[in-house]
Amino acid sequence: MEVNDEVLYRKFAGADETIFQLIVPKSKQTEVIHFHHDIPSACHLGVKKTSARILQAFYWPGMSEAVQSYCKMCDNCTVKTLSRESNKVPLEKYMAGEPMERDMLDILGPWPTTRNNNKYILVISDWLKRGLKESHYQTWKQEL
Ligand SMILES: [Zn+2]
Repeated sequence: MEVNDEVLYRKFAGADETIFQLIVPKSKQTEVIHFHHDIPSACHLGVKKTSARILQAFYWPGMSEAVQSYCKMCDNCTVKTLSRESNKVPLEKYMAGEPMERDMLDILGPWPTTRNNNKYILVISDWLKRGLKESHYQTWKQEL
C-alpha cells in the first residue's frame, strides 16, 4: 500500500509490470462498476472481463463478488442472456437405420452455364453412408 497525494493505492506487481490500483471507498464502488460495465464503451462485458478492466486501475476487497452481483442485476445483461438461451436449439445426434432414410439436399451454384443452360447442381447425400465411411459416401448430383 502507498499513499500518494492523500490517496491510498495498492501496489500490484504483475508479470510484466507493476501497477498502482486506487483503493475505492464503499460509497464509490457501484459507480466504478457502472463506468466499467454500463457505459457504451464498456459493452456490458461479463464478470471476468469487467473485473479485469476495473483491476487495471482500482481495487477493493470483495470486488469480484460485487461485480458478479452487479452483473446479475443488470437489466441489459439479463435480457441478452435470456434471449440467447431461448434461441438455442439443442444439438442432437441424428441416426439413420437404413439407406435413404435420412437424406441431405444442397444446391450448389451458380456455376458457369452449361450447354443445357443449367447453372446449379442439386446434391443429395445419404446420411447413413456418410456416417459410416467417407469412401462410401453416396452422392448423387443432378444439374438443375
Ligand atoms: Zn450489463
